[in-house]
Amino acid sequence: MDLPTGLAIAAATGFLAGVPTAWALFSKRAGLLGSALLLTVGGTSLAWFITRSWDAGWQESQSRGVTLGGLLGPPASIASLLLIAVLLELCDRVAGPGARLRLTLESLTVASGIFVPLWVALLRPDKPPHLTTHAACIPVTVASGLGSVVIGLGIVLIVRARIERLRVAGCSVGVVSIGFGATLMAAAGCYRAPGLLVIGAALIPVGGWMWLRNQLPAPTGAIKVVREPAPESSSPSSGLAMALMPVIAVSAAALYGFAYEDGIDVVVTIVGISNGFFLVGRQYCAFLELRRVYERLAVSEQHYRELAHTDPLTGLANRRGLLRAMYQDAVAGTPCVLLTLDLDGFKNVNDVRGHDAGDAVLIEVGQRLRLNLRPGDLAARLGGDEFAVLMWGKPADAFKVAERLLAVLQRPYQQAKGSIYLSASIGLAGCKTADSIHSLLRNADLAQRAAKFHGKNRVELYDETYDKTIRRRIMIEHELRHAIEKQEFFLAFQPVVALPAVRPVGAEALLRWNHPELGSVPPNEFIPIAEESGQIEALGAWVLNHACRQLSLWIAEGHDVWVSINVSPRELHTAEYVSRVREVLRAHRVPPQRLVLEVTEHAIAVDVEEFKRVLEGLRNLGVRIALDDFGAGYSSLGQLRNIPVDILKIDQGLVTDQDLVDVAVRIGQRLGLQVIAEGIGDPTHRRVVEDARCPYGQGFLFGRGVPAEHLEAMLVSMPPIATSTVPRPSLD
Ligand code: C2E
Ligand code: MG
Ligand code: MG
Repeated sequence: MDLPTGLAIAAATGFLAGVPTAWALFSKRAGLLGSALLLTVGGTSLAWFITRSWDAGWQESQSRGVTLGGLLGPPASIASLLLIAVLLELCDRVAGPGARLRLTLESLTVASGIFVPLWVALLRPDKPPHLTTHAACIPVTVASGLGSVVIGLGIVLIVRARIERLRVAGCSVGVVSIGFGATLMAAAGCYRAPGLLVIGAALIPVGGWMWLRNQLPAPTGAIKVVREPAPESSSPSSGLAMALMPVIAVSAAALYGFAYEDGIDVVVTIVGISNGFFLVGRQYCAFLELRRVYERLAVSEQHYRELAHTDPLTGLANRRGLLRAMYQDAVAGTPCVLLTLDLDGFKNVNDVRGHDAGDAVLIEVGQRLRLNLRPGDLAARLGGDEFAVLMWGKPADAFKVAERLLAVLQRPYQQAKGSIYLSASIGLAGCKTADSIHSLLRNADLAQRAAKFHGKNRVELYDETYDKTIRRRIMIEHELRHAIEKQEFFLAFQPVVALPAVRPVGAEALLRWNHPELGSVPPNEFIPIAEESGQIEALGAWVLNHACRQLSLWIAEGHDVWVSINVSPRELHTAEYVSRVREVLRAHRVPPQRLVLEVTEHAIAVDVEEFKRVLEGLRNLGVRIALDDFGAGYSSLGQLRNIPVDILKIDQGLVTDQDLVDVAVRIGQRLGLQVIAEGIGDPTHRRVVEDARCPYGQGFLFGRGVPAEHLEAMLVSMPPIATSTVPRPSLD
């Protein structure tokens, strides 16, 4: 080859600079890249000095130019191919997974927009540079085509980058510089332009340096990239610009060809047509990606919608989920039943075992419900320990399912700290009982509350009467709160008489409530509500105070009577009950033995030891204790010996039975207790009680509960037998 030495070195430098640099980028070896860049700088400087002494003859030699172009073109093409690979590798990392094909197509459209004008202006064989060489530099044309693709990819990457736009730009400009530099060197050889050769050789190290400076961090997963919000520049308008610019460029070149030359040649035609295909392909990719995004969105929307209708703890539907099912299906007229379920005593689980244990129980309840439902039925957790099941079918079938659920939920809940035992109260309401979803929910809830009132651990089917009962109950609970302030209470005193003389010895104070709307509400109705709603302590305090005040008046007037009041188990279990009684007795100057506190066996059932301690405290004050309604409940004779009471009040249910009254009186007397028979309503009862030698009696036959003045009249007409001073019986 007849080449000047400088050019030979420049050719070698071109090969050694562009290709190794691209290879170093491709194979990601920073060391290699550094060496390649050093070599380029060294080689280029050397070439510069040598080319300064080019002989003028060479400038004229066309064949040498072509040879040089042929020598430098292939390395430039190889470098561009490697750089294309480098840029393609970046696509997915900076623009999200699957972006490679779309960006490639996009970059091809940009590349065609660059190549066609280049072709029309410079590269075509009939253009001035070739006219001087009289031969086309095919390798340079190929290198230019590939270089256009490198530039196109670089531009697209910068515009489309979703992360670290500046760094991506730095990298892309670096890569483009290397490719452009290599192509320039090839062109310089072909067109015998030493200036271009030097610029091209200088661009390569500059590109390498830019690449090194803007190294992207190692890939950390494309998903992270996708989730970052797309920057504004990759908005639809930038996409449109990138599609439009090449079209404009190709069209301008074509118009130029038609206007100033002999039309367009085959290269412009092929590249122009290809450009169209690239555009269509790119649009199709964008469409596919859009569809994928849409599908992903639809799936996640569905997922979140389900979440919004699901209870996170149990995985059952939540209240919204149940309502949705009811609105969708229950209104269609298919026979259905709504079941609502409340766990009995679940609060204790949370209080005693902690909320984690409570949650575990709720999860287990959810599983048991799910496993025991019929296909198509929907179980939901409405909140706390409240569940619901929407069942398809008739109430009779639903009742059977509910009973099965009751049995299943009763099974022990195994936990590390020991099994937990629970039951449930279930209410059922057929869809036909309601004219709206809201009232169906209410009906099932009413039935469930009725199941609670009727002793829990049972199933109740909605009945219209529940409405009235529950409404009245709610009203009583509400009205009780202001009844003391409004002075709606008063005490009725029912005499207790000595038998057979029928002389009053004392009186039981019975609470009476006269409500302006509800009328006279019986204590059997409002006392349990006051107990449940936590109002009984205030009521009890009111009764104690008023009974003692009345008693002190009677004592002041010289009546030798005692007064008894009824005390609820809850009152007894309040810490300050004993001291409260002491204070009230002191305030009214009532001798303690004149006050009798009536307690029932229910109080024993709660906590015997605590019960005994409180009663001892009260007896230490000097107050007497009566065990009320003896024989009505599950009387335990063993307990009777242990608990500190002074008086036994035989329940009114027993006074019709001679044998039972006999036994009860004898038990009382054997234990050294005073015995009062309650509920003596007619002479037959009286005979039974007297035959059993019961010393005291109480009942309508001797007098109903009456206002204090009426009882006082009775005391005046029939002076009482003094019993208050009778020594307290011993329990030993
Ligand atoms: P108790 O303590 O057993 O009171 C006796 C109840 O039997 C009273 O009903 C009384 O009117 C009724 N009675 C008395 N003699 C006869 C009779 O010959 N025949 C019939 N059929 N009944 C008779 P009352 O006043 O309706 O009280 C019902 C229950 O309410 C009381 O039963 C008591 O447990 C409770 N109670 C009443 N006042 C209070 C109070 O101030 N505090 C608390 N905690 N409970 C009270
Ligand atoms: Mg009583
Ligand atoms: Mg009683």
